[in-house]
Amino acid sequence: MRIDVVPVGDVDDDAVDTASEALEEHYGADVVQMSGVPVPDDAYDDRTQQYNAEKLIDVGTSVGRGEKNVAITSVDVFYRQRNFVFGLAYLDGRGCVVSTHRLQMTADGGRLEDDRRTFMDRVRKEVVHEVGHTLGLRHCDNEMCVMSFSPTVSEVDAKYERPCSDCRCG
Ligand SMILES: [Zn+2]
Ligand SMILES: [Zn+2]
Repeated sequence: MRIDVVPVGDVDDDAVDTASEALEEHYGADVVQMSGVPVPDDAYDDRTQQYNAEKLIDVGTSVGRGEKNVAITSVDVFYRQRNFVFGLAYLDGRGCVVSTHRLQMTADGGRLEDDRRTFMDRVRKEVVHEVGHTLGLRHCDNEMCVMSFSPTVSEVDAKYERPCSDCRCG
């Protein structure tokens, strides 16, 4: 399986590399890092002052040539009524998006600063999670499973970066 990673906007190089490595390790994928593309103007929402996650998935699937295409961005993204998301994917879809914006925050909303390790661990978990959805995996009740729904960084930090035995596919 080929997975293309598409940086959208100005993205931390280490985060792009880390995301690619995690996908190679967990899904045995051939990961291709595409050249970066700008964040499209029409993804910006004046009301929330954030970016529409669905539009960023569209960027990934239009630029990427993989069976799965991961847009990775540092802008803050929202999805419908949810005021922010770490990422978004369509079940069994071709694309997903991961935003590093909130993964660089502490649980109380400050910045992680020099804690690169925690940041990179979160990037790995989120990218494995979103690609899991594109492979047909739904949210899992096991809170240690990478497919558990984890809307806060504390919950992301608490889980493993691998799917549990119920979720492991292929
Ligand atoms: Zn999810
Ligand atoms: Zn699971």
